[in-house]
Amino acid sequence: MEHTFQSPRPIPDFLRKDVVSKLAYVDESIAQVTLDDHDTLHCHLRTELTPDQRQILDGKMQQVIDLLVTSTRQPMIKIIENHLDRPVPGRTDPMPQLLETGQLVHTGDGMFSLGPLVAGLCRYFENRFFQLALSQGAGIHRFPSMIPASFLEKIQYFKNFPHSLSFAAHLRTDLNTIERFATETRCQDGVLHLPKDSFSGIRHLLAPTVCHNYYLFLANRTLPHPLAMATALGTCYRYESINMHSLERLWNFTMWEVIFVGTANLVKEALLRVGQEASLLLQEWGLAYRLENANDPFFIREFGMQTGFQNIYDLKYEYRARLPFKEGTLAVGSRNYHMDFFGRQMQIQLPDHTTAHSGCIGFGLERLAFAFLAQYGIDPNQWPESIRTALFPTP
Ligand code: ATP
Ligand code: ZN
Ligand code: MG
Repeated sequence: MEHTFQSPRPIPDFLRKDVVSKLAYVDESIAQVTLDDHDTLHCHLRTELTPDQRQILDGKMQQVIDLLVTSTRQPMIKIIENHLDRPVPGRTDPMPQLLETGQLVHTGDGMFSLGPLVAGLCRYFENRFFQLALSQGAGIHRFPSMIPASFLEKIQYFKNFPHSLSFAAHLRTDLNTIERFATETRCQDGVLHLPKDSFSGIRHLLAPTVCHNYYLFLANRTLPHPLAMATALGTCYRYESINMHSLERLWNFTMWEVIFVGTANLVKEALLRVGQEASLLLQEWGLAYRLENANDPFFIREFGMQTGFQNIYDLKYEYRARLPFKEGTLAVGSRNYHMDFFGRQMQIQLPDHTTAHSGCIGFGLERLAFAFLAQYGIDPNQWPESIRTALFPTP
């Protein structure tokens, strides 16, 4: 079933991708949506809609477009490093081959289990990132992959990113509820049908990123030194709706981070210094990429103002790797400066009793492996020698 919607106002080029990605959250009937060069939206629908339902859908799409277009100013583009044209042998999408050869198994929405080829690459990148952070003086941490609801509320995550939240629910600790659940619950077409009021109030969510747990770790403390540095690997969850169809965009993924908490100058200096070392790693791995300013995927109502703020204050940069098969790029990592936002919300103080600033550098390991395979193919004989020999040492 198809449905088209002609945008009543022109959609500027710089907003096209954001408009399409936000439309993934406007209506459950939408299975796929594309935007053509004449500002017409083409929706592929899961179910047939009545004329009234189509009108409601049009209204919601118009609302998204109106809000995004009227509130967002064209960002200034700053390219810091450009290795995008570095020649790489790969031309094809690695997904079909990885699935056909059983190296990757799709186990659920935005979920894949990785076999030795992709998991080996992830482990290799992870090891190198940890070596880098530890050599710079970071302390290693391990965090839960859940985060308290009270923390996310405090940092305004519910207002800024409601669409991508994932909740940690459990049954009420009540004998009757548990027994009713055990006997009555059925899974139909992948959807759980359970007795009403089975869940306890939700107090925790699945962590959307790694560094939040470090700010929680430091909450209400006065740091002994003007710069604290931590590194950790974590499982992160972001519900990305119909935008999840390959390793590019997962619900459940792993992120490595190095996190800095300290004076504004020391944090900014560390972001640049460690960021530079991370760039050298990407170059050593032979990746074609660009480092450029970026913004976070804030939800519709907050998008224009928050992305404008990030742009003006130079808060976020992304390492975007080339995907030759689609002539596009994909963010494999980012470098973020939060000013004193987390320090203020979590009451983290410096030795001189001023509020701490913070920043982080994070790489998504599955995305990095995916971009590498898109650039070098799934045959290790085509890979740069250092990675091949690290993964497949010859006796
Ligand atoms: P995007 O703009 O592509 O949605 P982001 O800007 O939200 O990504 P960050 O918050 O900067 O991403 O997270 C750091 C890294 O984590 C990203 O560069 C990417 O490698 C990885 N990452 C983020 N979201 C996902 C996802 N849904 N699936 C896989 N990896 C992800
Ligand atoms: Zn972070
Ligand atoms: Mg981004």
